[in-house]
Amino acid sequence: MTTEQKIKNRKIGVIGMARSGIAAAVLADRFGGKPFVSDMNSAEKLQAETARLDSVGIPYEVGGHTEKLLTADYLVVSPGVPLTIDIIKKAQSQGIPVFSEIEFASWCCKGKIIAVTGSNGKTTTTTLLGEIFTAAGFDTFIAGNIGLPFSEIVERIPENGIVILEISTFQLETISDFKPHVALILNLTPDHLDRHGSFENYIKTKFRITENQSEEDTLILNAEDKETKKYNVSTKADIHYFSHLPTSSVTAFVKDDFLTINDKQIIATDKISIIGPHNLQNAAAAVAAASLFDISIDTLAKVLSTFQPVEHRLENIGSVAGVNFINDSKATNIDSVTFALRSVHTGLYLIAGGRDKGADFKELIPYGKDKIKSIIAIGEAKEKIYEQLGNVFQVQFAETLQEAVQKAFTKASPGETVLLSPGCASFDMFKNYEKRGREFKHAVAGLKNGKNEHETISEK
Ligand code: ADP
Repeated sequence: MTTEQKIKNRKIGVIGMARSGIAAAVLADRFGGKPFVSDMNSAEKLQAETARLDSVGIPYEVGGHTEKLLTADYLVVSPGVPLTIDIIKKAQSQGIPVFSEIEFASWCCKGKIIAVTGSNGKTTTTTLLGEIFTAAGFDTFIAGNIGLPFSEIVERIPENGIVILEISTFQLETISDFKPHVALILNLTPDHLDRHGSFENYIKTKFRITENQSEEDTLILNAEDKETKKYNVSTKADIHYFSHLPTSSVTAFVKDDFLTINDKQIIATDKISIIGPHNLQNAAAAVAAASLFDISIDTLAKVLSTFQPVEHRLENIGSVAGVNFINDSKATNIDSVTFALRSVHTGLYLIAGGRDKGADFKELIPYGKDKIKSIIAIGEAKEKIYEQLGNVFQVQFAETLQEAVQKAFTKASPGETVLLSPGCASFDMFKNYEKRGREFKHAVAGLKNGKNEHETISEK
């Protein structure tokens, strides 16, 4: 079916009035479809969104989903909306197809799609790929989970353009024809099990990224990831592997301390600007994808040596009185905290906690035992952190992030590091992880301004 046949004159129910829902509705309208947007939230909360829809004449309902949605030919669902809500279950039971926003937007895409998924590292790798392709002169777009809906930019992508999409598992749950030219699965560790039911189900959903790929497409996998290794992949795509170890049977790997593709050295690992074994994996994944295109080694090396970490991902925010501060607020699961611990090579004060997602904090012990001087636990998870780690590390409580920063700073000596890597969601104390990270930076800036406090303390 052509794009026009899929959209023109079709009644399209869009669920969720966040940015991606609105973008999907506007896209549907531009392609001659008949979108109708529905949201649970009140008119009062959705004033800006409804004003936008009014301005383009797209009908909507707010304050709940009515049966009007069941008159649609199909539904397009924003990633934040669980598929378990009544109206979606009803639609499915009546045979009304349900698609994710990424699926829908992909129907309108003329350029090549590189799709990045995995439990951790998606934003970093997507951004890195964006910089590589831009530096190589491609007409490059990045979109998806990264904060810019695919539907919002898809019409601007020309036939020879490249779009790099950060894809969450939620978006993959309801694909049908989504067919990336290159798909990357960075790693698989338990996350969001509340929504996916089981780890097996989560892994299966991740691998749906390859279900429509054909022989001319490529699937890029992590040679070190134990779940990926165990999984019995069924795909028509050509499979390439990456590794940050000397595994020369794969496409991108590290040998003699050089990141190497197909036996060509790209860059010495200590020249890569983003630190830690996980970022070396992200860099290897990115170059494995880039090696499928006409991109020079020089370009790859240049971008890898200058690329700055994305905000809130092991972001070095400088030092106060010789104590270094790292903002890793995006570390919302234990796996990313273990990588943060592996990436810091000084004594460290770990600020962790928040809303627990069922984490096993004991997994931090082997990575932290020679480095962690003290843990400052915050938020709802603080007692659990104390119970699980209190017999191995010194664990202190703080009521606010500000207080945690102050406590860590008071204890740290010059040359040591204060690391915010919470291993938990932020919602008990903050609107989101970005707000948590910014508050951390604000607290550190406060220390910088009242600068001598640390010296005064250590002189005592
Ligand atoms: P995502 O978009 O998948 O959440 P990010 O790039 O935003 O990934 O990074 C999220 C967190 O995970 C950060 O704390 C970051 O340091 C850590 N991280 C980044 N890449 C990896 C990786 N390959 N494996 C494990 N943790 C990673």
